Formats: sequence, structure tokens, C-alpha cells
Amino acid sequence: MAKKQFKAESKRLLELMINSIYTNREIFLRELISNASDATDKRYYNALHEGKSGLNRDELSIELAVDKEARTLTVSDHGCGMTKEELEQNLGTIAKSGSLDFKQNNETAKEDVDIIGQFGVGFYAAFMVAKHVEVTSRSMEGDEAWCWRSDGADGYTVTPAERAECGTAIVLTLKDNTEQDNYDEFLQEYRLRGIVTKYSDYIRYPIRMPVEKSRMVEGSDKDAEGKDKTPEYESYTEVETLNSMVPIWKKRKGEVSEEEYDRFYQDKFYDYEAPLKVITSSTEGLATYNALLFIPARAPYNYYSRDFEKGLQLYSSGVLIMDKCADLLPDHFSFVRGIVDSQDLSLNISREMLQHDRQLKLIEGSLEKKIKNELESLLKNDREKYETFFKEFGLQLKYGIYSSYGGAKDLLADLLLYTTSAEKKYATLKEYRDRMKEDQKYIYYAAGESAAKLDVMPQNERLKEQGYEILYLTDDIDEFTLKAMREYDGKEFKSTSDDDLGIDNESEKEEIKKQNEDNKDLLACVKDALGDRVSAVVLTSRLKSYPVCLTAKGQISLEMEKVLNSMPA
Ligand code: ADP
Ligand code: MG
Repeated sequence: MAKKQFKAESKRLLELMINSIYTNREIFLRELISNASDATDKRYYNALHEGKSGLNRDELSIELAVDKEARTLTVSDHGCGMTKEELEQNLGTIAKSGSLDFKQNNETAKEDVDIIGQFGVGFYAAFMVAKHVEVTSRSMEGDEAWCWRSDGADGYTVTPAERAECGTAIVLTLKDNTEQDNYDEFLQEYRLRGIVTKYSDYIRYPIRMPVEKSRMVEGSDKDAEGKDKTPEYESYTEVETLNSMVPIWKKRKGEVSEEEYDRFYQDKFYDYEAPLKVITSSTEGLATYNALLFIPARAPYNYYSRDFEKGLQLYSSGVLIMDKCADLLPDHFSFVRGIVDSQDLSLNISREMLQHDRQLKLIEGSLEKKIKNELESLLKNDREKYETFFKEFGLQLKYGIYSSYGGAKDLLADLLLYTTSAEKKYATLKEYRDRMKEDQKYIYYAAGESAAKLDVMPQNERLKEQGYEILYLTDDIDEFTLKAMREYDGKEFKSTSDDDLGIDNESEKEEIKKQNEDNKDLLACVKDALGDRVSAVVLTSRLKSYPVCLTAKGQISLEMEKVLNSMPA
């Protein structure tokens, strides 16, 4: 049976597409600039391939121009251009990508060029802002120029045109403003500059635009000494390059100064302070990417709140895909900011998202290891800096262990710091462990409001006297974190308010048992007086100079109970 072809109502299809794939209409410019970059790459590649020299990347600029009166915006390039047939095929057929064909036909092109296009729909994004589009193009293969014109859904025409050299100029006549929608923003220099730096800053060719400026000139109104009485200005235009072209993360670490990294971080992530640490990473293999990461010096004001959004900027071939890609960062390192650039992501059609997250998972795993190693080396080599870090973000590490039910323990346990009874400075668990006495069965901890208060807690007295060190836990999350870890390096954690501290030997145990037996009536009498406020009253060997203390039975300590009770139901 003969198969029939699907028919498509192309007018409706175009409208649907234009209005539904993109969330943000400003990306039309990203798409046109990406196409111009692809076309320029193709021309450059072609020249290299044919052995023609004399083409210089810097001269192959992409140009933006605005005509405020005519309400047009022009994007032009000196790229490969299109023949009449190519105009019809590429711009007249939805989902036809000349760039994808090029990539497939030129496998060797990978190293020299960085083709962005693949879906064959980006061009139509122009109709989100334009009521009329004219594309004048001359192919590098011929000497005729052609003009493709369209008002959108109604179709297009192609007629002969004039153009002196190969390349393409796309003139958008902006839509009329309505009460809801104003398109004039796309005629404003600062707005266009903003869009270019946001999405296309790392396009490898200069993106240039004439910019209005003014300068002081010598005036006619002079004073007695011949100086100007009133300053006079004249305006002039200067063509400026808007993009920075070479991504700082693709440079080798030695090529970039500390100041450059700091400035980049502060500009990009709006921080008034320099970062505490810069991390660079590039890998090839399973996950191929370049990353430039920063640990901020201070937690943002909303860091420990629901408003905080974690994520890294994700670029593909130098084009911004996502501003905050959350999947690239595990929660326990959510404080990290920065950029990941990867060429082999499977983008979805709007190029605002990814199709599946297998590659992201690989990158996330690799970044997680990298961040951990960097923190560990900071801890080892610059303790002071690490402690600054820990004061800002330590809570997040503790939370990471707790919320993964201990799953993140191997990764994070050695990054934790605690004040202890031995020294009033921070100690790692490893340092505590190394100082443990030979006969010490447990890692002891006491939870409370402050180290000062814990220092005079009756429960801790005998332990301290016997030379056992105690971790002082002063954050609400602390005890929950230790419970999630259960043990460290073979030693269980034990609260100093626990019923049994494991410090008495058999004869001491017997002795206490006997004393409790002998004083049964007295203890019952005290219990009676206290009523339901305690569950038992016993004699203990743990006290030295204090007469009484409270202890807890079971898994939930007194401090944990306080935290749990203070949480909203
Ligand atoms: P994609 O870029 O994903 O291929 P587009 O809809 O953006 O899809 O563009 C369709 C095709 O039109 C491109 O693949 C390319 O062949 C051609 N094209 C678009 N803009 C230009 C340009 N400035 N110069 C040369 N060819 C272009
Ligand atoms: Mg494109």
C-alpha cells in the first residue's frame, strides 16, 4: 500500500511553535547571533579546508544596528551566506537545519568550529518580536544575492537583491506596540547589550554595535584666561565590541590572574566580596566539560531559607542555556556558584533545557568529588580560611549528612569541625579520634546553647576529669547529624547525658547498684516529691562536685527534645 505523507497546516504550526517553545522572547537575539556565528564558522572552516588563507577571525565580526525611526534591528554577518535554494530550504522549511547537515557532512570540523544550530527552528524566534523579516544573503559559492521576505505565518517571497560580498543581513521590523506589549526595548542600546552579554558573551567572533557617546569639546564661550566658561559636549558614535569572546574558564589557570577571577566572579554573581576560593576543572571522557566554580566568602542573606535557589550556569558551545541549573550541584554543596560549559549536552528544542539528565548526573558526580577534594585541601593547607568557610557553610554540610540519613557521611564527615572540651578551637573528628585515650570506648558529645555553658555542665565533670574529650554541639542540627552518622572510624558517638557512659568498671557498677539498693526508700521518697517530672531517681558515679544532674533514657536526648518541640508542627 502506498504510504501517504502527513500534511501540516504550516501556518498554524509556525504560530504554535513561535509562541510555545520559548519562555522568554529576548532569546530571539541569541538565536540570530548563534546562526550568524555558525555561518561564520562555516566560512572559516571552508577557507581553512580549501587552503585559502587571509581570513582572520577578528575581522569576521557579527554586527548589530538599530534604526529607531524605522523601528528596525539588523543582525548581519560575513559568514557563508545562502544561495536562493538554501534560503528556501533552510528558512522556508520548518525544522530544516543546514547547520546539522554541515556538522554531519564535516566530521573533521569538530576542532576548528563550534556549530551551535541543530533543530532548524531558532530562526523563527525572530517572529516573536518582528512583524516583518527580510534576509538578504549572498553565498560564498556564488555571486548573486537574494532577499527572503516574510510577515510570518502567511509565507515568504524570494527575490534578487544586491550585496557586495558574501554573508547575510537580517532586518527585523519590530511589531507594533500594544497596551500589553512594548517592543521598543529591542531598539535600546543598553537592552541589546544586556541580552548579548547574558546569552552570547562567549561567541567566538566579535559582536559589534555602534554606540552613542558624548565627549567634551572646546567651547566658544571663554573667560579672560582663555578657559571654557561653560563646558560643551558633542555626541558621536563609536562601534563597540559587546562580547568578551574568550571564556575565562577555557583559559588555563596560570593564564588568569587572581584579580581577574575575582572581578569575573563579582561581576557575574553580583557579590561585593571576592570569593573565598576559586576552583577550576576540566575533564574529558565520560563527562566532557569545563567548569569554573567559586566558594563565596559569605553566605547570601537568604542562604538558609527557602528562597535560596542553588545552581550553576550552564553553557553549551559558549551559549548560555540555563542560568541556574540545580541538577549540577548536590544540596550539601549548594553554596557553590559558577559555570559549567559542555559541548555534548542533549538540548531540548528551545535550547533552554536538557532532554535527559544522564550527562548532568555524570557532571554532578564529578563536580562533587572535585569540590570535596578542594575543601579538604583547604582544610589541610589553610586552616584559617577553612574555618571562615566553615562558619558560613558548615551548617549545610551537617544538614547534608542528616538529610541523606548518613549517606553523605563518607563524603562529608572529615569536613566537619567542632569545638571541644580540650581546646577552645575547632577540631575535626579525625583530630578528636587521634587524641582519644586508649581505653576510651566512645566519642562523647554534649549538646547545649554554648560552649561556655557546656563547660560547666555537671554531666561532663567526671568524663573531663578522666581526661576524655567532649565534642561541644551548639547547633540545633548537630545531634541529629551525629545520630545519622552513628559512628566515626569505629567509635560510636555517645551523649554525655546518656544513662550509661561506659566508664565504670565491673566493681564500680556493683558498688553503685548496691548503694541504690541500700538507699531505695530515700530515692523513692525523692521520686514521690518530684512526681511526673522525672521517670526515675538514682544514685550515680558520674558526678564529682555537683549533687544532681538530669540524664535521658533512650534515643532522644533532652536537647533533641527541645529542638523537636520548637519545630512548627
Ligand atoms: P538551526 O540553527 O538549529 O539549524 P535555525 O532555524 O536557526 O536552525 O536556522 C536554520 C538554518 O538556516 C540554519 O541551519 C542555517 O543553515 C541557515 N541559516 C540561518 N541563519 C543563517 C545565516 N545568518 N547565514 C547562513 N545560514 C543561515
Ligand atoms: Mg539556529
